[in-house]
Amino acid sequence: MNTRVAIIGAGPCGLAQLRAFQSAAAKGAAIPELVCFEKQSDWGGMWNYTWRTGVDEHGEPVHGSMYRYLWSNGPKECLEFADYTFDEHFGRPIGSYPPREVLWDYIKGRVEKAGVRDYIRFNTAVRQVSYDETSGLFSVTVQDHSNNRVYTETFDYVVNACGHFSTPNTPYFEGFERFGGRVLHAHDFRDALEFKDKDILVVGSSYSAEDIGSQCYKYGARSITSCYRSAPMGYQWPQNWEEKPLLQRVDSDTAWFADGSHKRIDAIILCTGYQHHFPFLPDSLRLITENRLWPLKLYKGIFWEDNPKFLYLGMQDQWYSFNMFDAQAWYARDVILGRISLPGKAEMQAENQAWREREEKLQTAQEMFEFQGSYIQHLIDATDYPSFDIQAVNETFLAWKHDKYEDIMGYRNKCYRSLMTGTLATPHHTPWLDALDDSLEAYLQETPRLKSAV
Ligand SMILES: Cc1cc2nc3c(=O)[nH]c(=O)nc-3n(C[C@H](O)[C@H](O)[C@H](O)COP(=O)(O)OP(=O)(O)OC[C@H]3O[C@@H](n4cnc5c(N)ncnc54)[C@H](O)[C@@H]3O)c2cc1C
Repeated sequence: MNTRVAIIGAGPCGLAQLRAFQSAAAKGAAIPELVCFEKQSDWGGMWNYTWRTGVDEHGEPVHGSMYRYLWSNGPKECLEFADYTFDEHFGRPIGSYPPREVLWDYIKGRVEKAGVRDYIRFNTAVRQVSYDETSGLFSVTVQDHSNNRVYTETFDYVVNACGHFSTPNTPYFEGFERFGGRVLHAHDFRDALEFKDKDILVVGSSYSAEDIGSQCYKYGARSITSCYRSAPMGYQWPQNWEEKPLLQRVDSDTAWFADGSHKRIDAIILCTGYQHHFPFLPDSLRLITENRLWPLKLYKGIFWEDNPKFLYLGMQDQWYSFNMFDAQAWYARDVILGRISLPGKAEMQAENQAWREREEKLQTAQEMFEFQGSYIQHLIDATDYPSFDIQAVNETFLAWKHDKYEDIMGYRNKCYRSLMTGTLATPHHTPWLDALDDSLEAYLQETPRLKSAV
């Protein structure tokens, strides 16, 4: 029987894996039989927006955590695919911070060109994975919602590309059950207009807090209060945005903070992160980690040390995203194709430990993205993934950090040069703060539309 590879999820990671194999096949290599299971009805993972919250049309937990009006929170030049550039997709330069739908279009463009959609079984949720030592095969049990049936197939390899920004990490604060307004996790945030003219409290100080607070500001919240556990975000916020130390308790309409101050609020949005949550995996295959740059037990950040035929993609905290997933997928492919051999477990553990020790010494944001850049370089040096200037990407990250401290509501108006093609991004026709229509159509038109869209 042919080698069979199961891929769980058709988000950017799962699609990178399909594209990696397809590119080898296009160069004449024999590739394994690929089956990608995707529980949603379309591809793109997080970038495939859903208005739903809670459970989906099949009763599955809704995967999506993205919201309307989301624009890339880092320069697109830092995530560009090395084998499929923005120039190739759009045929002309665009801005550096496209909205979600524009990035989704870009993600789809590559895999449409590669012709890999037929490998994907949509509306099919992976329920259980187990490994049989005797046969050396994995059994993957899935629920096919289109045909209302459950079935099991066996595979030689399983690539878990199910993402880790979907299952909320939801802390409790005293008084939540008596609060008179809405309490929600960022996972369920969809439309900032819901909070127009409201006083909102955002709990947390990472990307979600920064971006959801900014969306609410942009779409007319009366005030934003954000609170932090360890350190304030420290940007120059607009005058109706205040940062406070951690929330202590709430009553029916007021939040109390660690410095003794209080604020009347209408709604609370918990931007408190996500869990690596794999309910379909047995303990023997299940990665347990917080969101960090070097989770242990994954050799090269990919191969499950206890059983390297079980692979994980994209499980790291992400400065780099799409091109890091590619670097991993190309490396994973080459191991599966037998082009790269894996060392024994002791050697894997030792290498892993060395990466972890480096990771533990990182202090600044710059050190972190440089660390992740060096990891990507390490992977792409071993495969035929097109090489790109990672040092220049790091410099773009650095400029982006600087831009944010200079103007947190204006950094998305900046333009960067592609590190793949050298093309300079063009300023978007409307400054981000005024661009209320985030549709692909509005974004790609040459001049702004009248402000009636939202
Ligand atoms: C709010 C938000 C904003 C973000 N903004 C940015 C940004 O601006 N730039 C950036 O680079 N990154 C951003 N990210 C990170 C984003 O998660 C990655 O860009 C990327 O989507 C990760 O790809 P992935 O394939 O690992 O996971 P996902 O995109 O989450 O895709 C995983 C796929 O697996 C499927 N799946 C899950 N469980 C199962 C199962 N049991 N059976 C079958 N299928 C399953 C899901 O339906 C999904 O399609 C953001 C994330 C969030 C949550």
